[in-house]
Amino acid sequence: MRGPNLEDQLREHDLTLRHYPQSFEYATLGGWIATRAGGHFATGETHIDDLVESVSAITPAGQWQSRRLPGSGAGPSPDRMLLGSEGILGVITEAWMKVRPRPVFKATAVVEFDDFATAATGAVRLIVQSRLGPSNCRLIDPLEAGTMGAGDGSATLLLLGFESADVPVGGLLDQAIAIAADQGGRVTSQSVKGPDSEGGEEAAAPTNGRTHFSSPRTSATPSSPAACFPRLSRRRSPGTGSRSSTGR
Ligand SMILES: Cc1cc2nc3c(=O)[nH]c(=O)nc-3n(C[C@H](O)[C@H](O)[C@H](O)COP(=O)(O)OP(=O)(O)OC[C@H]3O[C@@H](n4cnc5c(N)ncnc54)[C@H](O)[C@@H]3O)c2cc1C
Repeated sequence: MRGPNLEDQLREHDLTLRHYPQSFEYATLGGWIATRAGGHFATGETHIDDLVESVSAITPAGQWQSRRLPGSGAGPSPDRMLLGSEGILGVITEAWMKVRPRPVFKATAVVEFDDFATAATGAVRLIVQSRLGPSNCRLIDPLEAGTMGAGDGSATLLLLGFESADVPVGGLLDQAIAIAADQGGRVTSQSVKGPDSEGGEEAAAPTNGRTHFSSPRTSATPSSPAACFPRLSRRRSPGTGSRSSTGR
């Protein structure tokens, strides 16, 4: 099952796997597990390893399944045999995955820096170590920013995002922005969305540090880059919610 198909099915239940490698559109759940894929635009549980609870595979010796529940802390985890196996042990046919409620509270900002290294060793490190728990804290160098249409290619961009299925996250974004500004960052766009926001386009204008309130997207891709980072045209952008459940 490919990424968009998987998210379409979870969306019907207001759930998400929240795993977005750049190959999301064409790569499969089995392929993610077989290659230990890592999601982009994400901090926290970004590797597929974190999201797998149990795996089934057809092996040369027959059907194989790792233990699902009850969990076990004894010995090596059998899931690890299949994670990253690149197909050499068998074909992964099913997986129990940890999914989570789709986030409805979202707060995002784009912060410009003059220098990539300063931003990386200053703002990004401090924000990640702050335990504010951003869903996105991604640094894009000027060339990539220009290529993606996220900027004019002259500045390093920090893409900041917070989201939750349960509680507003605008205050967390404000704190992260304060850290970034202290490290020389300049906010170029910012938006905060909640479950009660109504239709319409998202705030994309430069804000001079002020927060815009706008509505959640009702389209099939609430976590798309356009949703999270208005100035990014059409690329995907994830984050994490705060609760999780499991499903196959
Ligand atoms: C443009 C682009 C962007 C990418 N971005 C990322 C990224 O952000 N993060 C990342 O981690 N990787 C990325 N990749 C690498 C790759 O897409 C991922 O590793 C992805 O997880 C592969 O999944 P797939 O379904 O496309 O597998 P395939 O490419 O078809 O196969 C990859 C390997 O997994 C094995 N395999 C596939 N399905 C199964 C299965 N069901 N059971 C057993 N073995 C299987 C294959 O035999 C092969 O060895 C990217 C690749 C491209 C081309």
